Amino acid sequence: MDADVIVVGTRVGGAATAMLLARAGLRVLAVDRTRFPSDTLSTHQVQLPGGALLRRWGLLDTLIAQGTPAARMVTFDAGPAVLRGAYPHVGGVDAVYSPRRTRLDTLLVDAARTAGATVEEGFVVEGLTGAGGRVTGIRGTPKGGTPRTFTAPLVIGADGKHSTVARAAGAREYRSRRTTSAGCYTYFAGLPVTGGEIYSRPGMMVTLWPTDDGLTIVFLAVPLARFAGLRTDLTGNYLAAVASVGDLGERLATAHRAGPVRATADLPNVFRRPYGPGWALVGDAGLVMDPITGQGIGHALRDAESLSAAIVAGLGGRRPLDAALAAHHRDRDTARRPMYDLTTRLARFRPDRAGPTLFPAIAADPALVTRFLGVLTGAEPADAFFAPAVLRRIVGTRGLLRMVAGRPAPATSG
Ligand SMILES: Cc1cc2nc3c(=O)[nH]c(=O)nc-3n(C[C@H](O)[C@H](O)[C@H](O)COP(=O)(O)OP(=O)(O)OC[C@H]3O[C@@H](n4cnc5c(N)ncnc54)[C@H](O)[C@@H]3O)c2cc1C
Repeated sequence: MDADVIVVGTRVGGAATAMLLARAGLRVLAVDRTRFPSDTLSTHQVQLPGGALLRRWGLLDTLIAQGTPAARMVTFDAGPAVLRGAYPHVGGVDAVYSPRRTRLDTLLVDAARTAGATVEEGFVVEGLTGAGGRVTGIRGTPKGGTPRTFTAPLVIGADGKHSTVARAAGAREYRSRRTTSAGCYTYFAGLPVTGGEIYSRPGMMVTLWPTDDGLTIVFLAVPLARFAGLRTDLTGNYLAAVASVGDLGERLATAHRAGPVRATADLPNVFRRPYGPGWALVGDAGLVMDPITGQGIGHALRDAESLSAAIVAGLGGRRPLDAALAAHHRDRDTARRPMYDLTTRLARFRPDRAGPTLFPAIAADPALVTRFLGVLTGAEPADAFFAPAVLRRIVGTRGLLRMVAGRPAPATSG
């Protein structure tokens, strides 16, 4: 055997898993077809539970020292009301950080190497090897080299939403939802933000987050049906859409675009069974959802921690590996499902019947705003916050009936 565990893909999910397994004393070989630092098509919010893990692993302070700014306050402009508030504290973290992926992913790859993992960059995995119904290793080719195989008792697919490992292992898919949105983003200099800004409007969502090098990343999400029209003049249509919300028109007039507009409609929503004989999946390979709620990085980091704990328990003999992975699977699905359902609902851009009643009520109470931001950041389960009993306490019985009926809130005088 070449290693105890092979990890395919070394961005947030794979590098974090490789680091944690190596820190636990396992022999880890991690491969990625790309070479780091490497960018990827993604915006950068690391939600608070993910930031808390980076802190626990000793990596958040490095990001902060490298200049990644904190977004402690968020303005959520829902149209009928503007919520402004602070995040709750989660594991010693009270802000969303938005590091460029060139920085975050490289930091994690370096941390995996420092922990003792062997990381092979520029290695393309083409398939799996197997015997007797078990996965036994990977086969692939280093860029410019000759084909090779590596063997290990466990192969982890951290190779993203179109995972080669998941396909080759035959991972079962479930709870899939069709793609309903498209997203595009770019960076601006001279567009200062004091925190995060989220604008929800009929048929679009715009978010602003401070990122590295004094830049602000501006993301626009639209219904999939609008994507073809948007792409006829991507930059022009993107700028016009973003400038149409809040005071962004004026602010963008004095800002300077610092990169091309990048766009994608390759936004699947699917759960995959994350383990089987000789294989496991982590991050997007095992569960991917629309980026409209910016959960994927934090999910991949949480998944890395839960999966690696199960593997350490299983390979270390504290618990049968299969039972440990089954528990990890259950926990992942229980923890992620409320956010997955909320995300796929938001990505459908249906008219918001509850917002006109709910958001003004939340906006009036700073503690509720913080709790709501806790839901958006994935720290509080969405289904707990949106339970009828909780909503009744927030908007009253009449308000709840109005929300259900989709009637507007009565106008307030003064
Ligand atoms: C437009 C957009 C915006 C987003 N914004 C956010 C956001 O603000 N916040 C957030 O939390 N999430 C966001 N996401 C989601 C986030 O990007 C992903 O959830 C996250 O990158 C998943 O990490 P991962 O490590 O699982 O997989 P990936 O980041 O996809 O990494 C997979 C790695 O596997 C490697 N690989 C793939 N196939 C092979 C192979 N055959 N051989 C070798 N290597 C291979 C790839 O080179 C890659 O490095 C966004 C996504 C999109 C599309």
